[in-house]
Amino acid sequence: MRQTRLKHILAAMPPAQYALTVGRDTAEPLAGAFAERRAVQPVAGGRPLKPDDWQTTWQSLLAQKPTPAERVVYIHIPFCRQRCLYCGFFQNYSDEELETAYIDSLIQELQLSRNSRYLGSGAVNAVFIGGGTPSTLAPHNVARLLKAIHANLPLANDCELTLEGRINDLVPPKIEAWLTNGVNRISLGVQSFHTQVRQAVGRLDDTQTILERLKLLAGYNQVAVIVDLIYGLPYQTGEVWADDLTLLQAAPIAGMDLYQLSVFEGGALQQAIRAGRLPAAATTAGQARLFAAAEAELAARNFSRLSICHWGKNNRERNMYNTLTKAGSPVIPFGAGAGGNIGGVSMFLDRNVEKYIGSIARGEKPFTMLLRQAAGTQWQHTVVAQLERGYIDLHELAGQYGSGAWELELLLAIWAERGLVTRDTDVPQLTVAGKFWYKNMTQSLVECLHALRDSGRDGQQTIMVHS
Ligand code: SF4
Repeated sequence: MRQTRLKHILAAMPPAQYALTVGRDTAEPLAGAFAERRAVQPVAGGRPLKPDDWQTTWQSLLAQKPTPAERVVYIHIPFCRQRCLYCGFFQNYSDEELETAYIDSLIQELQLSRNSRYLGSGAVNAVFIGGGTPSTLAPHNVARLLKAIHANLPLANDCELTLEGRINDLVPPKIEAWLTNGVNRISLGVQSFHTQVRQAVGRLDDTQTILERLKLLAGYNQVAVIVDLIYGLPYQTGEVWADDLTLLQAAPIAGMDLYQLSVFEGGALQQAIRAGRLPAAATTAGQARLFAAAEAELAARNFSRLSICHWGKNNRERNMYNTLTKAGSPVIPFGAGAGGNIGGVSMFLDRNVEKYIGSIARGEKPFTMLLRQAAGTQWQHTVVAQLERGYIDLHELAGQYGSGAWELELLLAIWAERGLVTRDTDVPQLTVAGKFWYKNMTQSLVECLHALRDSGRDGQQTIMVHS
C-alpha cells in the first residue's frame, strides 16, 4: 500500500503542526489525544463572487433543474427572549413589532423564489426552523410562517419539519399553533435539567417546570420531541451530569443531542467565570469524562446512535436535516443570518434584520457573501459524514477522492495504536476516545487529503491548518 507521500508530508511539519494533525502519544487518549480542540472547517477552497454578481448568480441557480438528490431548507429566526451566557448565536432580543415585520419579509422571501424552476420541481425533504429561538414567535406569527412554508415549498410527503425552541415556550397556544400547521419535530434546548446549572447560564425554568412542560407536549402525541443537553457547564459535576442523564432517559422524548460546552474567548460566560460570578466550566479532560459517562450510560440502555452526539430513543426520531446537511445535501436558506449551498455555491444572508427587511422589500435576496466552491469537493463532505457516524471508510473515500485516499492508512495505523480507532472490522470504527476527538480527526483527515492533492499537483508538500 502506498503511504510515501503522506509520510513525507507529516515528516516535514513543524512539531506543533504535527501534534495538531496526528495528535499525542498518551496513556490517556480520552483526555489528552490532542492538545486542543479544533472546529471542523471541511470545505476548503472556493472563489468569492463579486457583490455585483450575487443577484444574477442567485437567479441562475434558481433557474436550474434540481438534481433528484435530497435537499433541505433552513429558515432562521434571529430573536431570543433572553441571552444565554454561553451562546455564540444570539442576534436580537424579541420584540413583537419587529418580529411581525420580520415574518412579513420572510413570507415575501419564500414567495420570491416560489415560481422558480429550482424550487418548483423536486421535493424538499426537511425544513429546519432554527435560531435564535423560533418558539418565541407569537402564535399568530408562527402560524403565518408555517402556512407560507406549506404554500411556497414543495414539501415531500414525509418531510421532516423541525422547530427549535425553549421549554419556557411550551404553552398550549404556541404548541397548538405549531401542531395544527404541520410541525412534526420539536428540538428543545434544555442544556441541563438541574435548576442551578441552567439558571446560572441564563435558562429560565427549574427542573419541575421542565418535566411538566415535556409531559404537556408529549400529551399531544403528534411530534418527535428532541432534547439538547450540554456537558461541562459551571456547577455541572459528575453527579449532576448523572442526574441529567437519568432524567433524560425518563423523559417522554424521541431523541437527544449531547453537546460539548464551548467557552468563547471574551464571551459573557468567560467574563462571568473570570469575574468569579460563576465557578469554572469543566476542562477538556473533565468534558471527556462526562462524555464517556454518557456513552456508557446510553449504550447500556440501547439507545440508537444517529451521529456522534445524537441519539434516538425511539423510531420516531429520524434526524434527517442534520444527517443530510452533514453529507453535503443542498441547503436553501431563508431569513436574516441563514446560510446555505446550492449547485456548488455557498451563501450567507445578512444578519442585520433591518437590512434584511430592506433587501426583501426591493425584491432582492439579502446576501452578504456568495462563494463558488472548488470543483470536486464531495469527498470533504464524505469525510465529515463518516466521522459524524463514527467510522472511517477509505474504500468509499477513494471512490470519490481517488486512490490517494489510501495513504490515510498511515494516519489510521497511528490512531489505532493510540486508541482512537479500532481495526477489528474492514471499516475502522472510532473508539470512545475517538468519538470525543472526532472533530480534530475530521479536520486532520481533510487537511491531509488537501496536502496530498497539492503535493501531487505541484510537487510541494503543504498543509493548511485551521485551528
Ligand atoms: S435561546 Fe438559544 S440562540 Fe438564544 S441566546 Fe439562548 S442559546 Fe443562544
